Amino acid sequence: MSEIMRPIPFPELINWIRTEYKNHGSVFGVRKFAAKISAPIGPAAGPHSQLAPNILAAYLAGARFIELKTVQTMDGEELRKAIARPCINAIDEGYNVEWSTELTVAEAREEYVKAWFLCHIFSKEFDLADLAGNGCGDVIFNMSAGYSLDGIKSEKINAYIEGMKNAGNTEIWKSCYDYLAANIVSFERFSRLDLDTISPVVSNGITLSTLHGCPREEIEKIASYLIGEKRLHTYIKCNPTLLGYATARKLLDEMGYSYISFDDHHFKDDLHFNDAVPMLKRLQTQARRQGLDFGVKITNTFPVEIKRNELPGKEMYMSGRALFPLSINVAKKLSEAFNGELPISYSGGVDYFNLKDILETGIKPVTAATTLLKPGGYQRLTQLAGLAEKIISPCPIINVKKLNALCDSLPKQARYRKEYRQATTRKPQPPIPIFNCYKAPCMDDGCPIHQNIPEYLAAIAAGNNDDAFRIIAKDNTAPSITGTICDHQCQRKCTRVDYEDPLSIRSAKLCAAENAQEAFIASLTAPGLKTGKSAAIIGAGPAGIAAAVFLRRNGVPVTVYEKREKPFGLVQYVIPSFRISDEAITRDFQIAQKLGVEFLFNQPEDYSFAELQKKHSFVVLATGAWKEAGIPFSAPTSYSSLHTYFDSLAFLEDSKKTNCALELGKKIAVIGGGDVAMDCARAAKQNKGVESVSIVYRRTREFMPSQYEEQELALADGVEIKELLAPETWKDGVLTCEVMRLGDYDSSGRRGIEGTGEKIELRFDAVIGATGARVDTEAFARNGIKLNAKNFPEVNASRESSVQDVYIAGDCKAGAATVVKAIADGKAAAADILRKLGLDADFSVEPANTGSSPAGTDFAALYLKKGIISEAKYNKAGGFDNTECERCLSCNVLCEICTDVCPNRANVAIELPPDSGLRGFQILHIDRMCNECGNCAAFCPHAGKPYKDKLTIFSNEEDFVDSENPGILKTGADKYKIRLEDKSIVNYRKGDKNIGDTWVSVIETVEARYRYLVQ
Ligand SMILES: Cc1cc2nc3c(=O)[nH]c(=O)nc-3n(C[C@H](O)[C@H](O)[C@H](O)COP(=O)(O)OP(=O)(O)OC[C@H]3O[C@@H](n4cnc5c(N)ncnc54)[C@H](O)[C@@H]3O)c2cc1C
Ligand code: SF4
Ligand code: SF4
Ligand code: SF4
Repeated sequence: MSEIMRPIPFPELINWIRTEYKNHGSVFGVRKFAAKISAPIGPAAGPHSQLAPNILAAYLAGARFIELKTVQTMDGEELRKAIARPCINAIDEGYNVEWSTELTVAEAREEYVKAWFLCHIFSKEFDLADLAGNGCGDVIFNMSAGYSLDGIKSEKINAYIEGMKNAGNTEIWKSCYDYLAANIVSFERFSRLDLDTISPVVSNGITLSTLHGCPREEIEKIASYLIGEKRLHTYIKCNPTLLGYATARKLLDEMGYSYISFDDHHFKDDLHFNDAVPMLKRLQTQARRQGLDFGVKITNTFPVEIKRNELPGKEMYMSGRALFPLSINVAKKLSEAFNGELPISYSGGVDYFNLKDILETGIKPVTAATTLLKPGGYQRLTQLAGLAEKIISPCPIINVKKLNALCDSLPKQARYRKEYRQATTRKPQPPIPIFNCYKAPCMDDGCPIHQNIPEYLAAIAAGNNDDAFRIIAKDNTAPSITGTICDHQCQRKCTRVDYEDPLSIRSAKLCAAENAQEAFIASLTAPGLKTGKSAAIIGAGPAGIAAAVFLRRNGVPVTVYEKREKPFGLVQYVIPSFRISDEAITRDFQIAQKLGVEFLFNQPEDYSFAELQKKHSFVVLATGAWKEAGIPFSAPTSYSSLHTYFDSLAFLEDSKKTNCALELGKKIAVIGGGDVAMDCARAAKQNKGVESVSIVYRRTREFMPSQYEEQELALADGVEIKELLAPETWKDGVLTCEVMRLGDYDSSGRRGIEGTGEKIELRFDAVIGATGARVDTEAFARNGIKLNAKNFPEVNASRESSVQDVYIAGDCKAGAATVVKAIADGKAAAADILRKLGLDADFSVEPANTGSSPAGTDFAALYLKKGIISEAKYNKAGGFDNTECERCLSCNVLCEICTDVCPNRANVAIELPPDSGLRGFQILHIDRMCNECGNCAAFCPHAGKPYKDKLTIFSNEEDFVDSENPGILKTGADKYKIRLEDKSIVNYRKGDKNIGDTWVSVIETVEARYRYLVQ
């Protein structure tokens, strides 16, 4: 079955590594090798140290301390069956439900011995080791074992330990050795002497894994046994439970992880700090006497409850950035107790941003897992190793002062706070195509108007704002407005969210607009008309103007009827000037004017289709959502209170019109938690005489629908957020609210709210309701447009209403939305009208980025960027730094996220020849290396799962039969069994015509250049 990992025989591994390197310059997907380093970093015991290829990949990328995946008596099939799948979720802070090796313990040892040979061979072959003398290895393997004294003393684990302490007499050692001796001439640098100098001591150090049922009273006995009888350098894994429940809860809450749920039972059951200190002192003395190293490994993991469907089951183990505050505080607590004289091996949220601080305290080695599970994968180790290499740590004492300072700085370290990662799911609906799957999530799912983001970022990076602006203006009819206030969902989808910071796409657009829009406008002329059939647009908001520009630019005569005197609707009249300038609005309007759109302002608002259709063949209704929201109180308000109650749009419009000269009083409340509420609060603050503004919201800030940055701006303006208050009445200056509390998690993982019954009374001078504007659909109904159950007009995908040739676009289609969605609607309507007229459209309606590999793409440069953390670049003078755009990974040209993030190297990219009918690189899934951990599915920017949906290479009949994946099993020379996309199975022999050309191309390419995949 596909969750079974099948170790690859040593000779096959050697062949794979050499052929991949020779043909493609990579080894198990690692392209940049770290040479001449000795940094004490590497993968933590976990998915990256389970199989021999994983360990070699880590080593080549820069790991020099490998903490091998834990072994215990429960192993192989028994353990595999106990692990739910998927078992890893590393989308943000990491979670897993796996714990020790899924191989048998004997197989695990074989993998580690094979890996030991591989690291030594290829350190020499690739000239990586920084060693004097004849040695060829510069890596330390550290064992990890658990979880009970009996288990560790068992024959199985004892044989493992002895076999690692001296592998020379093991079968696997002999077979690797014999193979290498027989083939030594085939290596370029690795010599017989090198082979003979490989130490059979694969590991003489062990880390005792605790938790996972390890009885606390046995920890000392096990460690004492490992030191005394096994004579191993010994470390004990300590857990965040040493902090005590209250401290752990407080640390997580402070950092914004209040949704992470756990009770105190592990804290009661696990080792207590007061017992830990004397125990560790006793063991330290014992180890010292025997001349062995002793210390602690901080931390193991942190068990928490599964509440938001993160993974299957009830309990999971937390890792990543949420574990960092806990782990580093455990390190501090123990270091204080030992005056820094207790050596600490560290993992627990290690990443590029904290590695230096950690190492500078004297803590080492440092191991990582979660950061390696994110895009960039193993290759992230190269940068980490380079960073670690430069740090001279004050060995062997830990600098307690520095450690304290690091812990104290945590609440201010924004990157470790939950809210830093402002991304929703990056997995939209379209399934993964079996071929040609690469895509840029920013432009595809992020941007409703599918702007070619990577292309304009590249132009800006090259300093070519004119080209960039042309690319932007092709799909965007309000570049300055969107460059300023777009809610930039593209940035939430950007692949770099999973590295460090998303690309500043919106600012890049504004940079292009500020530098190139005026010249662009000057160059515009109205294009000739291509049809006599005209379109009427009702409403000159963003949606109406978009429809008008796209139509007029492609030769259709257009008239826009607007009831007010100026263009751009809400943006013009309601959105405060401190958010959008008049110049930006004017600049965007000039594009439409220069293209020849006819605008009629101050028009009567009671339009009629009958009249319009006398003059125009098509009508686009884009009248927005301006109707007052319902009053946000459950009880009726008094007459006098109504005079101090304002609806958001009316308030903002008056405030803008009067330049913030409204007389509202001193204390203002804004009810609501969306972006409009933030604007109301900030605008209210600017009106004269206002002393305080409070946003009253029934949930907590964590659940506010407004953008995080808008909340921050409101807070920076001095606005207060009053959480968990549901307003009930507003009477005579008193807002009565029910105090709410967060309820349990619902099936979607969101926390509900429930009333406590407690009421509080708050005094205000005025209340502004910002709970959502509504659409006035009266005119729609009057003109015969069918409305749906929600009282919105019925429309098809092209936004055409139930009345033929009448389209609905923007906020009036389904309620208040955003400028860019309004443009998308205008674009869809225009595209359909052009189609009906038989005219070409010069803009894209569909994302146009799947799998293209333009000629001349510098793949080597793109691959190099993939492993590198590169923080957002800001121009200190306030302008835009165009080198920011160089951070773009060009995901439309090179994705391969699934290959990066797979700890087991079970997804590979192969390059097809240009005549294959397929574009550039294609992904193959290697069944025998995959354990269905699910990590590739978590990060693939398509809805599906690469490990299920991509063309799979099988290595045996049993696994082929057990799987449903489309794929190939080689059954003989030039013979294959194939499951096609429609699940039909065919036997194919070279030259047969029973499979498509694309499949033939894949098979021929694999045989010609990637044969190691089917050996
Ligand atoms: C306070 C506030 C802040 C916002 N902030 C953002 C933001 O930061 N980013 C963002 O992307 N979006 C924001 N939005 C939303 C955004 O402004 C709207 O989604 C967008 O303006 C919708 O465009 P539209 O063309 O559909 O409607 P509108 O902008 O409402 O334009 C409709 C136009 O139709 C005209 N009209 C109405 N009826 C008739 C009629 N019968 N005849 C002729 N003309 C008529 C109106 O006068 C108006 O000019 C915000 C909205 C508000 C209220
Ligand atoms: S890295 Fe570039 S191409 Fe990839 S999602 Fe971000 S902006 Fe788009
Ligand atoms: S292919 Fe995907 S599911 Fe399989 S091991 Fe790799 S990341 Fe996990
Ligand atoms: S993650 Fe893999 S399967 Fe998904 S789009 Fe990227 S290359 Fe294709």
